[in-house]
Amino acid sequence: MTVTPRMITTWRFGAEACRVGYEILRTGGSALEAVERAANVTEEDPEVSSVGYGGLPNAEGVVELDAAIMDGASHRAGAVAAMTGIRKPISAARMVMERTPHVLLAGHNARRFALQNGFPDAELLTEKARSRWKAWLEERLAPDVAHFEEPDRRSLRDEKSHDTIGLCALDTSGNLAAGCTTSGLFGKTPGRVGDSPIIGSGLYVDNEIGAAAATGNGDEMMKVCLSYRVVMLMEMGRSPQQACEEAIRYLLRKRPHHQQHGAACIALSPTGEIGAAATREGFHPPDRAWIYAVSQEEEILVCEGVYVDP
Ligand code: ASP
Repeated sequence: MTVTPRMITTWRFGAEACRVGYEILRTGGSALEAVERAANVTEEDPEVSSVGYGGLPNAEGVVELDAAIMDGASHRAGAVAAMTGIRKPISAARMVMERTPHVLLAGHNARRFALQNGFPDAELLTEKARSRWKAWLEERLAPDVAHFEEPDRRSLRDEKSHDTIGLCALDTSGNLAAGCTTSGLFGKTPGRVGDSPIIGSGLYVDNEIGAAAATGNGDEMMKVCLSYRVVMLMEMGRSPQQACEEAIRYLLRKRPHHQQHGAACIALSPTGEIGAAATREGFHPPDRAWIYAVSQEEEILVCEGVYVDP
């Protein structure tokens, strides 16, 4: 039986990726292929300052990328963390999944693995990202600014200082896949790894239950394995929407003093039902509304998700 395919991605900037992914699904491509190729679209867009090439760097001006992919059909997963100098990190993550017995490679060895597997050495820091980092550095060092607000906090709250493209896809064979790719938090401590390459935190998929992916402050979301929780709640009978809202509420309950950071998730069921929810704090419409993109028959809709209160 042919299943109606569906694709969902986080953020407005994910709309083009969603379109590309949906086209792959519509023409019979696999969910895994759709997730990878769709993620590549955002990774290669220098205008997206929180993913791949053109992403904002760590505190030392180095772009460190996190990415992961998970295949519902085989329950395999691959990821790279804190990887430098390689474009299309989700494709490197897929190679980790397909060419090694491991799930996650990190740091310079992730890069070495990618180089050995044919990825070219690349400069990820664009001029635009470099000047933003320089301005950030100057601001951070200025005592009168630092006096008013703790610098790390300010960078976390800055509208464009982070955001992951998270993706979930359902193909015509009824298989699900999920992916995540990001440059993480702008100005992060070198070596910091967020939720995105961590299976169960940034993404999770079980072909029989559903797929989920997350965006927001990974240091918070990792503490509750947010994506795993969404899928677990679906297993317990919640709809994808209920599961997303309940998982976010759980995070808010467990971390009552950290609500300003913001967390969001998307979900997709094997029947093509979707969910999307975010913390209210950290996502303030209209400037920083919680937006996702989803295929609806032949169209790509850009929608505002549900905000959850504690
Ligand atoms: N979750 C990502 C991280 O913490 C950032 C984001 O999605 O906004 O690295």
